[in-house]
Parts: sequence; C-alpha cells; structure tokens
Amino acid sequence: MSAHTVIRFADWTITPETAPEAPGIIHELECTTCGAISGANEDFEEVRDWAFRHVGRNPSHTGYREIIHRFWRAVLME
Ligand SMILES: [Zn+2]
Repeated sequence: MSAHTVIRFADWTITPETAPEAPGIIHELECTTCGAISGANEDFEEVRDWAFRHVGRNPSHTGYREIIHRFWRAVLME
C-alpha cells in the first residue's frame, strides 16, 4: 500500500429493488422427493398448479420447498 492510497469507508444500505423495470418476487417450487422443479414464475398460482399436477402424477411426492427470488438494491448513503 503506497503512502498515497486513500481508503474511504462508506455507509451502504440495501433495500428491495424499486426500479419500475425490475421483476417482482419470483416463486418456484421444488419437489423434495425427486427434485423436480416448477420453473420460476411471478405468479404463485402457476407454480402451485404445477405442484398439483406433479402430486397428481406422483401421489407419494407430497413435500415441496419454495424458492423465492426477491431483488434488492444497494445504495450508498452520503
Ligand atoms: Zn416429485
């Protein structure tokens, strides 16, 4: 590190993304029996319907894990 190096400490905050083009919360469901996955969708009803179809074809696959993608934005506080 040279004598001219300047280190600045800054305060950051992180908040849910509010940009109008940003996607909303995205849902996925994963079958905990076989690992099949619904695919990502902003509409939870779509992934829920996938789970109904999946358990309909595989009646012993009754456990699901939800994966939620939520976008955040870091902002430098000045
Ligand atoms: Zn399954």
